[in-house]
Amino acid sequence: MNRSINVLPVVLCLFATSFLRADEPAEVDSNRFQQAHSRTFRAFDSQTERTWEKPFFFVQLADPQYGMFTGNEGLDQEKALVNQAVKHINRLQPKFVIVCGDLTNATPAQARYEAQVSQYQQDFSKIDPGIPLVCVCGNHDIGNRPTAESIARYTEHFGDDYFSFWVGGVFNVVLNSSLLKDPSGVPERLQQQQNWLEQQLQHSRVKEAKHIFVFLHHPLFLEQEDEPDQYFNIPLERRTPLLALLKAANVRAIFAGHYHRNAYGRAGEMEMITTGPVGRPLGKDPSGLRIVQVEETQIQHAYHSLDSVPDTID
Ligand SMILES: [Zn+2]
Repeated sequence: MNRSINVLPVVLCLFATSFLRADEPAEVDSNRFQQAHSRTFRAFDSQTERTWEKPFFFVQLADPQYGMFTGNEGLDQEKALVNQAVKHINRLQPKFVIVCGDLTNATPAQARYEAQVSQYQQDFSKIDPGIPLVCVCGNHDIGNRPTAESIARYTEHFGDDYFSFWVGGVFNVVLNSSLLKDPSGVPERLQQQQNWLEQQLQHSRVKEAKHIFVFLHHPLFLEQEDEPDQYFNIPLERRTPLLALLKAANVRAIFAGHYHRNAYGRAGEMEMITTGPVGRPLGKDPSGLRIVQVEETQIQHAYHSLDSVPDTID
């Protein structure tokens, strides 16, 4: 008698849980969003991933910017677009996915920030667990003038704001470009990132990488490496020395977002690739994603609207 009384609530509870699960949003694996740690990305084995094995491809997204369509009133459109992108990703099975910033529209100081982070994490959690998801911070994620507090709020949800990792013989650097855009709130953080970057690029193993890629939110430039300063690029004062450093290190390509449309340029051999938004477009390029195919001596990349993503990648 006693036993059945004890068991009944447990059975009811289990029944209720399984009943609710069908309609519940995807469970957020918070560990998935804490892989950028100690200035590296833990999902990639730092030893085995240093070796080139075979060509691979990855998917780059930019500016899901949850809340932008409605000025922080709703998230339905961003949610629908990201869900569409996630279906393509799960079908294509890239080596990894990288989201180049402006994950949310609200900044950490704004009321809707936590709700937007939560929706972002729920939707991106639907990417197959075997596909690492790399997040990059944008100006909306830490504010146009980052502070120690705004960066701390970001890292609490998404891990480090700058880090590096190896994938299949390729060395990848993720930078906090808001520090390059306006370091005035935390000049020491820009200096730390700079020192760290120089150290990373000097490493003898890095010199043996098949390619070096840099990912950040703000494009260093849109089309010309010496174009005048404007909202969508990095000021020449910090752009010129950084480009010189990246050229000297033989960086193959820089991937950015922020512009909400595509743009392409070159600095010597180095490609500057600005990718349109998975969220709200600001130009003629529709919401979409970029597929980057990495071969031993070259890369190929193409932007696809969410309605025209190929079924498979050769
Ligand atoms: Zn931005």
